[in-house]
Amino acid sequence: MRVVLATRNRHKIVELRRILAGAGLDVDLAGLDVFPDVPDVPETGATFAENALIKAHAVARATGLPAIADDSGIAVDALNGMPGVLSARWSGRHGEDRANLDLLLAQTGDVPDERRGAWFVCAAAAARPDGAERVVEGVLAGSLAHKPRGEGGFGYDPIFVPEGESRTTAELSPAEKDAISHRGRAFRALVPELRALLEG
Ligand code: IMP
Repeated sequence: MRVVLATRNRHKIVELRRILAGAGLDVDLAGLDVFPDVPDVPETGATFAENALIKAHAVARATGLPAIADDSGIAVDALNGMPGVLSARWSGRHGEDRANLDLLLAQTGDVPDERRGAWFVCAAAAARPDGAERVVEGVLAGSLAHKPRGEGGFGYDPIFVPEGESRTTAELSPAEKDAISHRGRAFRALVPELRALLEG
């Protein structure tokens, strides 16, 4: 069974193949790179779940195949849950990881350790071309470091310290991060939902 992953990001395709295979899902996962004519879908939802569903439905409709999509970001206590769904474009332009991280650090520069709580969130959605859908969420709780540390990962990883860890997520190995990450949790929870959707 072929399932389309609603992203052109190679890094994400590799990561999700690894997570879904690890969770025992046996499907042929194709990235959107295989479907160059499918247009990019604007992320207009107010929540991670809405955005993941918008992308999954658009790709399922455009390809005629079941599709899965995710939307993720970081929520900071001291910013009342922002950047949230604006995480990828917090500094104004989409996908400028370093500028986003620098702005978040500057905004929280005076926030003391006891109020530096933050969490990564990932919504994972699956949709069939006929409109049937499932969506689940995964969360990783932690806190913001004062300075970036580590070379791994992407985005806000160099300033995010998971609960019970002293390292940032940029200092964890890919396998260590998958085991606890919001994305790992969301996609492992999506596997039984996706199976039900494919069989239903
Ligand atoms: P998406 O690709 O629309 O889901 O955007 C996610 C954005 O949230 C990325 O650009 C990152 O800034 C941030 N983000 C999501 N997951 C992670 C993660 O695992 N580590 C670091 N940053 C993340």
